[in-house]
Amino acid sequence: MVTSHKAILESINPSTKEVLGRVPIMSKVQVDEIVAASHKAYEIWQLTSYKQRAKYVLKLRQVIAARADELAQLISEEVGKPLAEAYLSELTGPLDTCVWMVENAEKLLADQSISLSNPLLSSKQSLVAFEPLGVVGIIAPWNYPFSIPMMATIMSIMVGNTVIIKPSEKSPLIGIKIGEICQEAGLPHGVVEIVTGDRETGKYLSEAALNKLIFTGSVQGGQKVMAQCADNLTPLTLELGGKDAAIVLPDAPIDWTCRGITWGAFTNAGQACASVERVYLIKGKNTEKIISKLTKLASGLKLGPGTSDSTDVGPLVDEVQLAKVKDQVEDALSKGATILTGGKAREDLGGFFFEPTVLTNVDHTMKVMTEETFGPLLPIMVVETEDKAVELANDSQFGLCATIWAGKLERAECVARDLNVGTALINDCLFSHATPQLPWGGIKKSGFGRSHSYFGLYDLVNIKHISIDSAGGSHRVWWYPYGKAKVKMARGGIQMLHGKMTERPVGLVHFVGNMFVGPQSENPTGKAAIKPESEAAKTDANPDKPQ
Ligand code: NAD
Repeated sequence: MVTSHKAILESINPSTKEVLGRVPIMSKVQVDEIVAASHKAYEIWQLTSYKQRAKYVLKLRQVIAARADELAQLISEEVGKPLAEAYLSELTGPLDTCVWMVENAEKLLADQSISLSNPLLSSKQSLVAFEPLGVVGIIAPWNYPFSIPMMATIMSIMVGNTVIIKPSEKSPLIGIKIGEICQEAGLPHGVVEIVTGDRETGKYLSEAALNKLIFTGSVQGGQKVMAQCADNLTPLTLELGGKDAAIVLPDAPIDWTCRGITWGAFTNAGQACASVERVYLIKGKNTEKIISKLTKLASGLKLGPGTSDSTDVGPLVDEVQLAKVKDQVEDALSKGATILTGGKAREDLGGFFFEPTVLTNVDHTMKVMTEETFGPLLPIMVVETEDKAVELANDSQFGLCATIWAGKLERAECVARDLNVGTALINDCLFSHATPQLPWGGIKKSGFGRSHSYFGLYDLVNIKHISIDSAGGSHRVWWYPYGKAKVKMARGGIQMLHGKMTERPVGLVHFVGNMFVGPQSENPTGKAAIKPESEAAKTDANPDKPQ
């Protein structure tokens, strides 16, 4: 968490409110200089081979692993997450991305040949080559301050792009640490750059000459960034907020489901874009048992500073986040919700703490069921049918993830297919962001584009089509000259290839019969018509014909 004074950001430990460090807020001039340096570095970096880049990425992996304790400690101090989460949710994703990229990037981005179905194109060969884009900007949030920018960085540099990261103003020290790690891994100057600062700094970066921007953050931030990218038409991926629903089917295994949902709701103090933000419990014989188990598990979680080994739930990142959570609880209570456990801020603990909270008697008139909470609240709504649960889950401006908890997996898969989201997980939650092979991204106000997986790789390259024609014959039938015969030929060709079966022979006759008739032959001036292609081929001494 951070407060800003003039051109300096103060990084604050949200567990203690102590100042952890100070970093500069970079100006437009500084950002532009860094963008220029990144373009310069790209000139060389794009020429390196996959093998050469893989060496750097493997070294990066070694450095992250060797400095894991120091990284986990800093992450825990700067954003308050429990140490176990700092290791598991922040470091494993980037480390696995290094391995996956080194083993697969070259294979996944090998040239692809494309077969063409139209007989008129039979002399052509088409292939797709994947080339780096240039300079990729990564504007990152504070809630996964290491894994989000690192995974995007590793994928970007592996395909030959250079990268500029703008860490959140609430986690600038982790951003600076990423820069240090890249330096220690020996990456050439300019391949990974860090710009520290606030939203204004982010604005300078998004308006600069980038070849791609990946923005992860709030909907409001994403909307502004999209406008800021418009002038340069910078291609953009937006990874925004969520309001992820958990649907519990009547046959869900009680213990597994309750433990999973408890973790999904309270990990990172609920400050995950894909955390379980609302539960739809389909009425059945276990309804009461599930509610009471979820309440018991939540009330047993230990609130405290992230750096303590025994902490389950850390603080919120700052007072803004704390105020938002308090507001949602008050709104829900004023509209008839019931608190089963928690419900209070715990600033007596020294930081921005809020108790893990379970609510029932909630509905969609309440903010807690419709707006992103980003805090440790677990509202549970009991519904009569599966259809109602799906309808309510889809009644959202967001479409990031959803989870389904069930015994019968085929049934759960049907529900998954009915949900309007980018990711639907059955009997687990949240894990897939840290798994580099799996696509990540949302629909609706959760954003667009995909990161991670080979879909994410395709977003980081220029998908270049190369077509090669063997240049047989004298010309192509769609080239000039035009005329009546060309129109008849074209009409015949469409009939021949796509008309009713009975019309196709007539189409063939018109097509072939008019194929070699030039406009001159129907032209009263009587100038020579273009020779038929077959004849032209026989006598062709075309000096321009490529060899
Ligand atoms: P935020 O939008 O306030 O800030 C995110 C980053 O964008 C920061 O670095 C900030 O400085 C920068 N920024 C903000 N406004 C900007 C602007 N106009 N121009 C350029 N840069 C700008 O978001 P946050 O509070 O840091 O993060 C929390 C949000 O991020 C939540 O909504 C959460 O759901 C979302 N999130 C989404 C994903 C995902 O993968 N979909 C992952 C993590 C977080």
